[in-house]
Amino acid sequence: MSKRIHRTYWFATYRFATYRFTQPRFSGLSFFLLFLALSPGIFPEDMAVTSTVAAASPVPAAIVAAPAPALSLEDTLKTLEAELRWDPLFRSGILSSGNHSLAFQTGTAGARNPVVLDNRDVLTLPAPYLEEGALRFPGEFVSAAKKALEYYLQQDRFRFRIAAIIIDPGHGGKDSGALGTYTVKGKAFTLAEKDVTLRVSLDLHALLRAAYPDKQILLTRTGDTYPELKDRAIFANSVPLKENEAIIYISIHANASKKSSARGYEVWYLTPETRRTLIDESKYGDSMEIGHILNDMMEEEFTTESITMAQLIIKQFKENLGDLIPSRGIKAEDWYVVKNSRMPAVLVELGFVTNQADALLMTSETHLPKFSQALYKGITAFVDKFEDSGGFTFH
Ligand SMILES: [Zn+2]
Repeated sequence: MSKRIHRTYWFATYRFATYRFTQPRFSGLSFFLLFLALSPGIFPEDMAVTSTVAAASPVPAAIVAAPAPALSLEDTLKTLEAELRWDPLFRSGILSSGNHSLAFQTGTAGARNPVVLDNRDVLTLPAPYLEEGALRFPGEFVSAAKKALEYYLQQDRFRFRIAAIIIDPGHGGKDSGALGTYTVKGKAFTLAEKDVTLRVSLDLHALLRAAYPDKQILLTRTGDTYPELKDRAIFANSVPLKENEAIIYISIHANASKKSSARGYEVWYLTPETRRTLIDESKYGDSMEIGHILNDMMEEEFTTESITMAQLIIKQFKENLGDLIPSRGIKAEDWYVVKNSRMPAVLVELGFVTNQADALLMTSETHLPKFSQALYKGITAFVDKFEDSGGFTFH
């Protein structure tokens, strides 16, 4: 779902305003439009608003149609193939059709009010009005709304979306990753990184599949096998994408250190600076893990998205795991997983296999699901942000 349909006109207006305010060249106009949207009826009908609005809006001027008789609510919904969410307190409504929405405020018959399309574009149209308690929609309003919705549906074909999410459970098969052996209350147990990464990845996969039936949610392995790093890269790059589609990559690992006191989660993103040079393991202090992973190539344009994704994941780790485990923050390095890939990617270190407290968390039926929940929430926040912004445009 790339656009959420918001429950009230006010929230739609808010979204519209925040969207516009983030774009400096629109900010003055946005403020004016927001003021206008929040103040229906303040301006005289003949005020030259329509042309000002048209300059900021991708909706063609041809949308404004000739006058026609008013339609009932039922006929309007049928014509637009839309649903109505009505706010009786503010006498405002949102007509939604598919992923698209059109927020309006009622007025007196004959008045013209701003209408917010898809939470971002504004048209000034004859206002819907109440007549003997029933909503009436001016013909010009309905025909303009229909053209706008058709226009947006056409634009959908060019809309940026995340089409696939690849989850890469680190290690597997012959490669156990880090190992930790502990005796707790007289009971010995061994934690292998490859097992915890698979378990969290499978849980994350199930959560994302349920949330995004329209996206491909892929795993580089589903059992105790070892895909070579280059196979993981080939896999990532072989997912077919249309021109307007993007893919994101999440590699899941657990950390290790010679110092058993080292603990906590961290999220790594790719940097564009170092390309295919070996990492100096001594640089990494506590985190031996990263030292094992070779550098990768990365296109600069995806670094910002990777950092954003890392930030959103870290935020959710903090919220979902709280004081259970410390945050080691966001780190930058190059790693070899997604060779020649052109996609935002992060590598998550869940915790330290070599630390007893972390190992207990990662083997706990109570606490382990919190890791996949945190990843899930961080990733969906990133997907929403990406798709709401219309692609890689929020940097
Ligand atoms: Zn690892």
